[in-house]
Amino acid sequence: MNYGHYIHGEWIKSEETLSVYNKYTGEEFAKVGKGTREVVTEAVTNAFETFHSIKLTPWQRYEILMRAAEIFKERKEELALIIVREVGKVLKDARAEIDRGIQTFIASAEEAKRISGEGIPLNQAGVDNKMAFSIRVPVGVIGAITPFNFPFNLTAHKLGPAIAAGNSIVLKPAEMTPIIACKMAEILTEAGLPAGYLNVVNGFGQETGQHLLEDERIAMYTFTGSPGVGRHIKSVTGIRKVTLELGNNSPNIVHRDAPDIEKAAELCVTRGYVNAGQACISVQRVYVHRDILDRFMDKAVQVAQSLNVGNPEDPTMDVGPMISEKEAKRAEQWIQEAVEQGAKIIVGGKRTGAILEPTILTGVTPEMKVVCQEVFAPVISIIPFDDIEDAFRQANDTRFGLQVGLFTSDITLAMRAAHSLEFGGVIINDVSTWRADVMPYGGIKDSGIGKEGPHHAVQEMTDEKIVVISL
Ligand code: NAD
Repeated sequence: MNYGHYIHGEWIKSEETLSVYNKYTGEEFAKVGKGTREVVTEAVTNAFETFHSIKLTPWQRYEILMRAAEIFKERKEELALIIVREVGKVLKDARAEIDRGIQTFIASAEEAKRISGEGIPLNQAGVDNKMAFSIRVPVGVIGAITPFNFPFNLTAHKLGPAIAAGNSIVLKPAEMTPIIACKMAEILTEAGLPAGYLNVVNGFGQETGQHLLEDERIAMYTFTGSPGVGRHIKSVTGIRKVTLELGNNSPNIVHRDAPDIEKAAELCVTRGYVNAGQACISVQRVYVHRDILDRFMDKAVQVAQSLNVGNPEDPTMDVGPMISEKEAKRAEQWIQEAVEQGAKIIVGGKRTGAILEPTILTGVTPEMKVVCQEVFAPVISIIPFDDIEDAFRQANDTRFGLQVGLFTSDITLAMRAAHSLEFGGVIINDVSTWRADVMPYGGIKDSGIGKEGPHHAVQEMTDEKIVVISL
């Protein structure tokens, strides 16, 4: 496979290319282009002209997205295998990602038919004989920049709502995992999306991505990725719209009255290691009430030790490699640093190439990197607590605020937690990793601004315009 860039419904060759590797074998399995400023300008010009010359009705957008969902379904196995190879994600999780992405497209299609403004009562002294309502209109060209870890579903969360809302898009996929996005562009064209509505520019963030940020014809950026890059995007895009879906060091609190302690332990462990821990809402800090600590630990250790780790193409595997050996070494280094400062490795901790064993740490302290930063690796820390208020305080003691999990049978405590835990999502009796694609999703603090989930993303990707009528 050799992809350049996708402009006006065609692949254009690129003089300079970058290799995409199989993350388990290390072999090159595809190439993509390295987008120069000229390429990015051409892509934006094309998206801009297409937006102004071809308008799609809401029903047409609905049909295109539904047809695309059908094709994704038919080609699920082929697409899942691309994710397995370019991400290193185990086959069952890659299949699950395709299934979820299909749901995201279907939900986006539905939203295309529901875009509406509202009636506005103008009841104010001195205002007579006027009525008003609002309509929602597409923002124009959207610049979409995506991360490596869920390259199908997170791209679906950008393309689906953007198309539903009537926008054109220039997409820059993550340079480590661009192939599935290239396939998505081809499939959307096959499903009837007019050429130019979706252009894909490949390349590195600091070059191709940076060129995209500098083109003022782009009305809005939708970004998912690391907080550092999110901060940069916000600082250089001036008054243009931005939504940022960034990181987290997800806390999960298991109170002594958790409805099922073993189940909670199993969820915390397995959801801490999905995609080798490389999910923004991956379980990372687990606060467990001291009264139930032994029971919780026994189950957590048993589950962690039972996981199959290895070749992600093998359907029996639970955990595959991380995105690169460099990232696995970085996580290993954080574990070693924690151990030097007094932490204990209860399970795992060893690395072979890009594979880091699922790891459980205890004896950690708040200032260790494995606790206070986003570990983004299959590493969880179990931290005992005596007082639930102290657990809330520790959970909140972070610069992040994406999602948090709490296990308790006490409805009053759960409601209090919903108010006092400072996160975009509070998940009761499941882990921070739980997400339905239709729900509003997004963080506070350094976890970002704006919401995803097709309904909310369509709101972000449209402008509300008021119409006032004199009677
Ligand atoms: P990253 O920030 O390194 O890269 C994300 C994208 O930004 C890539 O396409 C990259 O090429 C591009 N980029 C990098 N520098 C750029 C620049 N200067 N200008 C424009 N674009 C640039 O992130 P990653 O390593 O791919 O993904 C991991 C991060 O993403 C983690 O922090 C994770 O928590 C976060 N994430 C968040 C969510 C969420 O929904 N909140 C979901 C998944 C991942």
